[in-house]
Amino acid sequence: MSKLNPRQREAVDYISGPLLVLAGAGSGKTSVITRKIAYLVNKCGIEARYIAAVTFTNKASREMKERVTQLLPGKTKGLTVSTFHNLGMNIIRREHKKLGLKPGFSIFDDQDTKALIRDLLMHHDEDAEQVDMIRTMISNWKNEMVTPAKAESFAKTPEEVLAARAYDAYMTHLQAYNAVDFDDLIWTPVRLFEEHPDVLERWQQRIRYLLVDEYQDTNLSQYKLVRQLVGHRGALTVVGDDDQSIYAWRGARPENLAQLQVDFPSLKVVKLEQNYRSTSRILKAANTLIANNPHAFEKTLWSDMGFGDPLRVVHTRNEDAECERIATEILDLHLRNHIPFNDFAILYRGNFQSRLLEVKLQAFQVPYKLSGGTSFFARAEIKDLMSYLKVLVNRDDDNAFLRIINLPRREIGPSTLQKLGEYATERRVSLFDACSEIGLEQRLPAAAVEKLRRFTHWLHEKYRLCYEGDPIQAIKELIQDIDYEGWIYQNSSSDAMGEKRMQNVWFLVDSLRNTLERLQEDDPDAGVEEAIARLILIDMLDRQEEEDDSNRVQLMTLHASKGLEFPHVYLMGMEEELLPHRNSIENGDIEEERRLAYVGITRAKKTLTMTLARQRKQFGELIDCTPSRFLDELPQEDLEIEGNGEKNPELNKARGRATLNSLRNMFDDL
Ligand code: ATP
Ligand code: MG
Repeated sequence: MSKLNPRQREAVDYISGPLLVLAGAGSGKTSVITRKIAYLVNKCGIEARYIAAVTFTNKASREMKERVTQLLPGKTKGLTVSTFHNLGMNIIRREHKKLGLKPGFSIFDDQDTKALIRDLLMHHDEDAEQVDMIRTMISNWKNEMVTPAKAESFAKTPEEVLAARAYDAYMTHLQAYNAVDFDDLIWTPVRLFEEHPDVLERWQQRIRYLLVDEYQDTNLSQYKLVRQLVGHRGALTVVGDDDQSIYAWRGARPENLAQLQVDFPSLKVVKLEQNYRSTSRILKAANTLIANNPHAFEKTLWSDMGFGDPLRVVHTRNEDAECERIATEILDLHLRNHIPFNDFAILYRGNFQSRLLEVKLQAFQVPYKLSGGTSFFARAEIKDLMSYLKVLVNRDDDNAFLRIINLPRREIGPSTLQKLGEYATERRVSLFDACSEIGLEQRLPAAAVEKLRRFTHWLHEKYRLCYEGDPIQAIKELIQDIDYEGWIYQNSSSDAMGEKRMQNVWFLVDSLRNTLERLQEDDPDAGVEEAIARLILIDMLDRQEEEDDSNRVQLMTLHASKGLEFPHVYLMGMEEELLPHRNSIENGDIEEERRLAYVGITRAKKTLTMTLARQRKQFGELIDCTPSRFLDELPQEDLEIEGNGEKNPELNKARGRATLNSLRNMFDDL
């Protein structure tokens, strides 16, 4: 275990008031949180169940939990280490009655949310752009805690008026579906605490010390939640770095850092200056780059991890060559220098950049793990099964009901569903409940009613099995009853594809079992509905399967790399319009892009390689690329530039062939 430096020690030991640790990348902010949890338990006698630590991603919270468990073997029972959204969900789950929600409420993901907005706008000709715009506006309002009524009174442009109206209807429908969306997970607890001081007091008793990582990226509602939970006690430690604020587009407010001083006049500020992650050269590059941004807080950062290698800037002919170069270089270093694959990370600005990279890595048989990209839960088979599970635990979720009613075919036609919908709206009940109402018999032919009821009775029976017996067994039976396997094979382009999709289904069932077991370790009363909600949440937050990432190259966006570190980092696409992103150039928002580049550079411990292409295909056309302005802002004396000015493509080709041949020889030797 590393020894804390005096400043870190000071931050860990200080418990007599609110504390802010403000420091640059790699200075041990996250380590301070981990060590402070151990200190609170071991030295201050606060039981772990009274402590909550909030992280930014599920991955970060998993890692933190692991580290705390090592520091506090056997003493972490009941400790909360979670994301803001998970914490919010736990609060809603425990207080659902006060919020007018029934147990098993659904959490709407991005797709559900968009589907609902599309329905509300009542045009089925997909106007995806408009739906996206309204979705973003609603989300921003929620993060800023603006009610539909307020939104309507502020709305000026026709778009705003439309969105504000949709917002109102959207909220009513969510309530009717017994559902909350992602943003509600924070805002709903905040409102609850405002309206019920007694409930807030209970939670303040439960969370007696709160720690928050990556504080610069909290939005208004998250900040409000922190303030409520902390109350007057000031039992709070937050750590952050204003230079790493990269979520302004999602409502993050780096000014929350300065706001702390206003809200907590007794705030103590500790600054850390030693970086334990990167070589001096990498750190110097990062410091030089970020010095181009204006600074509200003075910070210095130094490292004694050695001077290190120069930073490499590799120019390539086009995107194909760029990806191939990265893949072959990593393979070469792995084979020649025995560097394990998981010591490498490849970072990029946009998810689309990973596609070609994946192709190249596969071609050279370099194992990799992609964080992000197409969500596991966005796959059709997973959506299907999740919809079954959602209706199983929340029969008010009409969205999910409509997805599964004819899956597989039950021959319930659109006109039956339309009449059912009308009847349900009149009676103000869910589609599921409408099926068993006697009045329905006057509206629909007996055969149609019979089909609907057969479905709901069957599902009800599964529900009973779920709660009286083994839920996982009940879910497996459900999958067999509907012969989902047969359906999948029928609807897949090949048997191999069908098999893969069925594997996804079983992966989901397994994940559900694991999640349920883990939840029950802390809370024996936790049921299958909580496990389902947790799974949805994990996916929505960082969209990664909890698969093993040992010995694989890590691929992720710069945004997703926050807080992580890797010995060798490749930063792709160092070009104008990519990094900085075109939209940010147009909006004049270069500072946030510079912070993103700062985050990327400071992930590297030993080596950093930045790559760029001279030409890139865009909308089928070949365009010339300009090197990123951020390259000019780096200390030129520390850069080693390769491939620039080589106008002779033949030379490059020959070189590529040589690398390939040497690699092939190595494979043959193995
Ligand atoms: P970021 O801003 O990127 O989130 P951070 O400030 O949270 O970084 P950490 O991730 O906590 O920094 O620490 C960076 C690295 O330095 C980790 O590998 C950590 O183990 C190591 N480290 C932190 N403090 C010390 C110390 N006192 N001695 C040795 N190593 C340390
Ligand atoms: Mg950190």
